[in-house]
Formats: sequence, structure tokens, C-alpha cells
Amino acid sequence: MKKEGVKLIENGKRLDGRGLDELRPIKMEIGVLKRADGSAYVEWGENKIMAACYGPREVHPRHVEEPDRAIVRVRYNMAPFSVPDRKRPGPDRRSVEISKVTKEALEPVVLTHLFPRTVVDIFIEVLQANAGTRCAGITAAALAMADAGIPMRDLVASCAAGKIDGKVALDLMGLEDNYGEADLPVALAPNKKQVTLLQMDGNFTRAEFEEAFEKALGGCLKVYEMQKKTIRKKYEV
Ligand code: UDP
Repeated sequence: MKKEGVKLIENGKRLDGRGLDELRPIKMEIGVLKRADGSAYVEWGENKIMAACYGPREVHPRHVEEPDRAIVRVRYNMAPFSVPDRKRPGPDRRSVEISKVTKEALEPVVLTHLFPRTVVDIFIEVLQANAGTRCAGITAAALAMADAGIPMRDLVASCAAGKIDGKVALDLMGLEDNYGEADLPVALAPNKKQVTLLQMDGNFTRAEFEEAFEKALGGCLKVYEMQKKTIRKKYEV
């Protein structure tokens, strides 16, 4: 973010040909892993992300269980080969942060009180990254939870908006994230109209923030429609 000298908008088009309100191409599929209780694969531009969900199941270590509800546990991980410079394997500050905010984005929709002393485990594996992996990961994880049959009040859809060359734009890709001025990832439980993730990197004016927030919410709703279609498709005969 905030590196100078690259023109990101020319003749009203972005470097990949998108307009300011356009999402990158998105593909979703559920039930892709045999051994998980639920799973999903999401391609979002050049991001490729696998999510697996297990549970509700017995909690290990025991002392983290809750007597009156299930806990939701998330591990976000990037493969060493997912980015141009090899990513050192294992957890780092960034993956610990993304795991935490992803858990907080998903937990509000889970009917945790139905399964005391259990855990819903979610694993997000980023196979290829090109900005926006936390949004794609949350979107994939919600699909994997639905595929596992976890009782949920709602789905969670996620999308970011940012600022490039002084303009608010939907869904920044890698170069835009590197050379742009700001990024605002949002997650939304659409039926509850509850925002479950709101982060900001860079600088917006107040008006730009509001524009970006609205744009990101619009993106979430588009992603939500794709999620519903993906789930329905599995059960069509
Ligand atoms: N990235 C990278 N190496 C890393 C971490 C991130 O090249 O070790 C890239 C990757 O493409 C990622 C992007 O930087 O998607 C933006 O990362 P950020 O922390 O903003 O999270 P994201 O946008 O993926 O949610």
C-alpha cells in the first residue's frame, strides 16, 4: 500500500480492464474434500482458496471448551508457493490476525448454543494469493460450514473496496493493493444485516470511507447471491 509511481486507472479502466464497480471473476464449489465434514473451493481473480470444516466435534485441548456453547476455531494458512516470494511456512503475525478476524466474522451466525462443549474447526488454505484473501477465505469458510450442515442463522459473504489513483474501487487485485491508497475489507451476514468484519488499511476521507463501505457491501451482496447458487447447485438433481 501507498507505493508511488504506478498508474492504476487509464481511460476509466483498471489495469485488468475492470470498471470501478466490478468484481474480479469468481468461481465457487462445495463438497470438494472427501474427508472433511464440509468443504469449499473458491477462485477469486488469481486467488485460489480451499476451506474445510469439521464438527461440531469434541474439543482438544479440553480446557478451551465452553460449558454452554460450541466454540468456533479458525486457522488461516498460506502455502509457501502461494505468493511470488516464497512464504515462510507456519504461522506469522498476519496469519494469526486473519485467523482471529475470520473467526469473529463467522461466529455470530453459528447457533453455538445447540452444541455445548464442542468445536467447529475451520481450516483455510490459500494456494495462490493476489490480494483479498481474507475476504475470499471468509466466503469459502461460510460455504464449507453450510456444506457441513452446521446450523447457522445466515451465511457470511465478504468483499473489500479500496482507493486507487484517488478513486474508490471495488475488490482490489494485487497491484492495486500494493500501489493503491487504501483497502477496506468487509464481511456481511446479509439477512441479519450484520457487519461482522470491518478493517481498514491506508487513508480515506470520511466521504470516501462511506463510498467504499457502500461499495464493499454491494460486493458482499453479489458474493452472497453466488454462494446461494453454489449451495443450491449441489442439491439439484
Ligand atoms: N502477500 C504476499 N506475501 C505475504 C503476505 C501477503 O505476497 O507473505 C500478498 C498476497 O497476495 C496477499 C496480499 O499481499 O493477498 C495482500 O495481503 P493482505 O495482508 O492485505 O491480506 P489480504 O488482502 O490477502 O486479505
